[in-house]
Amino acid sequence: MDDALDFNHRPKEPTFADTLNVRIDAALVTENEDRAPRSYLGGSRLGDPCARRLQYEFLCLPRDPDGRFSGQSLRIFAVGHSLEDLAVEWLRKAGLDWRTRDRAGDQFGFSVAGGRVQGHIDGVIVATAIDMALPALWECKTANAKNWREIVKRGVVAAKPVYAAQIALYQAYMGLTDAPALFTAINKDTSELWHELVPFDGALAQACSDKAVRILQACDAGEWLPRIAAEPGHFECAFCAWKQRCWA
Ligand code: SF4
Repeated sequence: MDDALDFNHRPKEPTFADTLNVRIDAALVTENEDRAPRSYLGGSRLGDPCARRLQYEFLCLPRDPDGRFSGQSLRIFAVGHSLEDLAVEWLRKAGLDWRTRDRAGDQFGFSVAGGRVQGHIDGVIVATAIDMALPALWECKTANAKNWREIVKRGVVAAKPVYAAQIALYQAYMGLTDAPALFTAINKDTSELWHELVPFDGALAQACSDKAVRILQACDAGEWLPRIAAEPGHFECAFCAWKQRCWA
């Protein structure tokens, strides 16, 4: 048996698909990392429960080597954006009329604190064929089936506090507080759609705005705000892209 040939342990040759995918992902990662880092605090991120992580983001501190966006992550984001563009068309067919971009073709948004806090909205609904208060902020997210079902079951405010914070802050800064926002969630696995109206939560918007001020002041002063946890085993830290930096 010593002379028997073992065909099972030969190194696996990359398939045609592997070769192409490696090239695609390498190009996506390079493109993403060549992009100029964002020099402002993103309004969509202010609901993040860890203020320290928001400081790392605002200060453009590099992610840990294992926290960098992979090609697959970047493809997931791109698919999500494409689905959101499709949702615009689907809702338009249902009789919603809205504005998603200004005359220059740029996404609508806001810029406050000298441009150090910015946000870009998915759209403003200005007319509809159905009964709803207007003008209303529209916010769209994509989710896998498990997260989508959670949103449907509990509502976006309870299921996804980060999205709820974003909606409240955007309503406040865009002056769209009188009408509830329309939140749409797309199930990426089944293409099912969920829509709900989210009344303006002034206290939440104020809390997010105060948090932004706190983060900017701490960054200016060269101080670190408290970590969310007392030890790195906390679930927020386990998947954090700055975990090594934070707990070094
Ligand atoms: S490792 Fe934990 S405490 Fe540090 S920034 Fe990330 S989430 Fe916050």
